[in-house]
Amino acid sequence: MIEVKSGTCHCGEVEFEVRLENGLENIRRCSCSLCSRKGAVMARVPLCGLKVTRGADKLSLYQWNTKTAKHYFCSTCGIYTHHQRRSNPNEYGFNVACLDGVDINELGDIPVGDGRLMSLIQASI
Ligand SMILES: [Zn+2]
Repeated sequence: MIEVKSGTCHCGEVEFEVRLENGLENIRRCSCSLCSRKGAVMARVPLCGLKVTRGADKLSLYQWNTKTAKHYFCSTCGIYTHHQRRSNPNEYGFNVACLDGVDINELGDIPVGDGRLMSLIQASI
């Protein structure tokens, strides 16, 4: 069942919508040096499944290492909203905690993807 959920950054300047074909999929944290600092809980959608509906001009872009991934965050409140993934640039990862009505503390144990190992592999080739 297709479900559309909306989300916002903390200050509300940025709003986005995700179109979830099968609910929240592949919920994880990531161990890379950026994500472990953010502590964000993320899920994925194809690029066409996420739309910034307000405040696109308020988003800042952060890129590092291979500069493949694009990490977006609100320039006013600093909250990470979504990113275009490095390992699959056809997908966005997004901040599950930004979604209306979702409490990440109720999601149970969240697996940790090994983004740190992936960065090391990527950096060495
Ligand atoms: Zn904000």
